[in-house]
Amino acid sequence: MALRKPSDRLVYPRRFTSCGEQLDSMEIPWPNSLAVRTESVSRHYQMGESLVRAVDGISIDIPAGEFVALLGVSGSGKSSLLNLVAGLDRPTSGAVIVHGNNLAALSREQLAKYRLHTVGMVFQSFNLISSMSLLENVELPMRFAEVNRRERSALACRSLERVGLSGRLSHRPMELSGGEQQRASLARALINRPKLLLADEPTGNLDSRNGTEIMELIHSFNQSLGMTVLMVTHEQALAERYAGRMVHLADGKLLDDVANDDESKISSEPVQAPAPRGETQ
Ligand code: ADP
Ligand code: MG
Repeated sequence: MALRKPSDRLVYPRRFTSCGEQLDSMEIPWPNSLAVRTESVSRHYQMGESLVRAVDGISIDIPAGEFVALLGVSGSGKSSLLNLVAGLDRPTSGAVIVHGNNLAALSREQLAKYRLHTVGMVFQSFNLISSMSLLENVELPMRFAEVNRRERSALACRSLERVGLSGRLSHRPMELSGGEQQRASLARALINRPKLLLADEPTGNLDSRNGTEIMELIHSFNQSLGMTVLMVTHEQALAERYAGRMVHLADGKLLDDVANDDESKISSEPVQAPAPRGETQ
């Protein structure tokens, strides 16, 4: 492992800084090679008398195509930071810029489009809708994107195939194992071919075999589609095995940021989607 050198700072026109000026465009001069930049970003919560500094002045750059693991003990601010990058929450101060879009400058509608087209998200608890079949769950983002029924169904089918679930299209989430549910939520996250995959403890509810399958899939999408991955985990071993870089948080602050030279331990060959298991196939 080698300590990461801070990259050169970009110079923006002043209207694009995080100082709250009126922005007349959401596009900023931006190198294609950079996916995410956070500039001294903070998210504080006022809880009665006390102020919780969940994220406290974090600046990081994530080049496009990188696989970054966000590590830290429970309560260190990992999910809060991920939610800011996802556009699910707004910073108290500082800026989050993703592929040239300063999220603070986006209207609610633009932010919804950003979440629909630029990012895919996977959570520890899968977040599938229990009353819907897998196919319906996976095609949901396409419904929001107003893609016609036939096309979205075909895309959802292909996305489920990529994660080895083509035999489970009409199953409901409850009829599947945890690993299968997480693969389905990965299929849903990927259906719009996002540039950025954000994963919050995606293996947290899985046994090690299913966890490894999910990690192999995420890694293969990172390699074969060039998709940038920002993954929260508290499992150092997983991060060391799959991530190219490890960012540690403590008390909402950046503790360290190291390149992981050991990532070469896994093959860069695209993985086969796991074969469907069990008799419900
Ligand atoms: P992690 O994902 O690393 O476990 P979180 O980002 O969830 O940490 O939380 C960081 C800190 O912020 C914790 O102290 C947590 O209690 C607090 N926190 C998170 N979300 C909220 C919220 N909506 N309101 C108040 N405090 C919050
Ligand atoms: Mg969390």
